[in-house]
Amino acid sequence: MEDYPESAEFIVIGCGIIGASTAYHLSKANKDVIVLDANEVVSQASGRNGGMVVQLDARDINAGVLKAKLSFARKAIEELKNFQKELDADFEFEQNGSLDFIFDKEELESLKKFVDIQHSSGDDEIQLLNQEDTISSMP
Ligand SMILES: Cc1cc2nc3c(=O)[nH]c(=O)nc-3n(C[C@H](O)[C@H](O)[C@H](O)COP(=O)(O)OP(=O)(O)OC[C@H]3O[C@@H](n4cnc5c(N)ncnc54)[C@H](O)[C@@H]3O)c2cc1C
Repeated sequence: MEDYPESAEFIVIGCGIIGASTAYHLSKANKDVIVLDANEVVSQASGRNGGMVVQLDARDINAGVLKAKLSFARKAIEELKNFQKELDADFEFEQNGSLDFIFDKEELESLKKFVDIQHSSGDDEIQLLNQEDTISSMP
C-alpha cells in the first residue's frame, strides 16, 4: 500500500480537467493540496472529449450573456496557450476556426440573428459565408 498523506489543507475529489486545474492553481498558490480520484487520472470526460475549444456557441441568444462569456473565453484561450509554455508541454492546441453548416431558410434566419448578436457582443471573427465564399475559404 502506498503512503498517502493523512491530512491536507485542501482535498480535491476528482482528477478531470476541473479537479486537476483546481489542484494546480491551489498548489501554485503554495496551498497544501491532495487530489483523490476513484479511477485513473483524466480517465472520464476529460480523457475522451473532442478536444474542441469554442469561443462561443449558438445556444446562447442573449447579447449580455454572450459578451460576458466572450471575455471569459478569450482569457481561457490565452491561458491555454500560456499553459503550453508554463508546463513546457505541447498538447497540440491550434486555432483553426470551424464551419457550421445550415440546410434550410429557417436555420439561416436563426443563424443570421446569432451572428448579429455575436457581432454586437464584440466577436468580430464570426462570418456568415455563402456557398462560394465557403468553398474559396477552404485550404
Ligand atoms: C464524448 C464527449 C465529447 C466532449 N467534447 C468536448 C469538446 O470537444 N470540447 C469541450 O470543451 N468539452 C467537451 N466535452 C465536455 C468535457 O470533456 C467536460 O466538460 C470536462 O471534461 C469535464 O471535466 P470534469 O473535470 O468536470 O469531469 P471529468 O473529466 O469526468 O472528471 C471527473 C473525475 O471525478 C472522478 N470521480 C467521480 N466521482 C468520484 C467520486 N465519488 N470519488 C472520487 N472520484 C470521483 C472521476 O473518476 C473523474 O476522473 C465532451 C465530453 C464528452 C463526454
